[in-house]
Amino acid sequence: MKDGMKTKTPQQKTQTIPEILAVIRKAKSILISGHVRPDGDSLGSMIALAHLLNREGIQACATADQHGLGGPGFLRGIKSLVSAKKALKMKVDLLITVDAGSLDRVPQEVQTIATRCPVLCIDHHITNTRFGTYNWIDGKASSTGEMIWHLSRRAKWELDDIAAEALWVAVVTDTGRFAYDMTKPSTLLCGADLLRHGVRTSVINDKLYASFSRTNMELKKRAFQTLKLLRNGEIAYLTLSSKDLIETNGTKADAEDVIDIPRHIEGNRVALFFYGSKSNKNETRVSIRTRDPLNAFELAKQFDGGGHTRAAGCTIHQPMEQARKTMLAAIETWLDTQQ
Ligand code: 5GP
Ligand code: MN
Repeated sequence: MKDGMKTKTPQQKTQTIPEILAVIRKAKSILISGHVRPDGDSLGSMIALAHLLNREGIQACATADQHGLGGPGFLRGIKSLVSAKKALKMKVDLLITVDAGSLDRVPQEVQTIATRCPVLCIDHHITNTRFGTYNWIDGKASSTGEMIWHLSRRAKWELDDIAAEALWVAVVTDTGRFAYDMTKPSTLLCGADLLRHGVRTSVINDKLYASFSRTNMELKKRAFQTLKLLRNGEIAYLTLSSKDLIETNGTKADAEDVIDIPRHIEGNRVALFFYGSKSNKNETRVSIRTRDPLNAFELAKQFDGGGHTRAAGCTIHQPMEQARKTMLAAIETWLDTQQ
């Protein structure tokens, strides 16, 4: 990379698309990473971006744990993912993070790589901390996938079915199949363009929403049994312990739709899914979903988490039972201040 690009001063401003493209075009070896426990948007965006860059003759590869990817694990391009351990040994002169709101959201090894080279952060989380050397943040974008699609159109990179399907999965999963508030006319234009490139819509819909693994079924069964309602269902939550995840050999990706159980209860305003960490009993993860006008990330931020207006998450550094009490007490106080 050119000398000027070695400076790694974090910048608050958001770079423009031409500036982002200039950074990408100057790089010789790019590594792309999403967040830990990647979801459809994270995975689809990294696969599509790596694939599009390779087609342009730019050396790029994406890193993610290939195990336990849940529904989006069917994507073509998964096989070309490298492990974070392998990535650590690679020569990288630009790290691109996609769909990660803060640096602690990327795998540990990738955080180490970030200390060695410039970082380009591409993200749509409203809570993004601008941790990159270069940042392209659009808090109004439906998904990182839609941003990558915009980038590809501006760059005139040619889409093919592999990239289009990866972006389709990214957009569809983050917009609740083009239904959430963040779905804008531009999101549908993006979808329309992707369809021109051979997206197998019903096959993908089946993979994501109509063919559940045994692990997913078992996790949902266990989670259902823990369902609790407070304030007549206004607050609803359920739990999967680390034991549940270990016994079922399950991951967060296998339980991606578990949060829908409390969320789908009539009158629900705050839905919570508590899940244990397989490696640390003193750590509890929380998925948060809210309804208008409650701001999910406002709650997540109390615990150094982040996310979007209606979907956010955080880690509470306490064992499960204590973490649940801490979170529920915070919600009671918080709701009293809300409409
Ligand atoms: P989920 O509940 O599906 O894991 O996450 C919901 C949204 O919040 C996603 O956009 C996710 O990236 C974000 N999110 C989840 N956990 C965290 C966290 O610990 N920190 C931050 N900054 N964002 C999170
Ligand atoms: Mn996203």
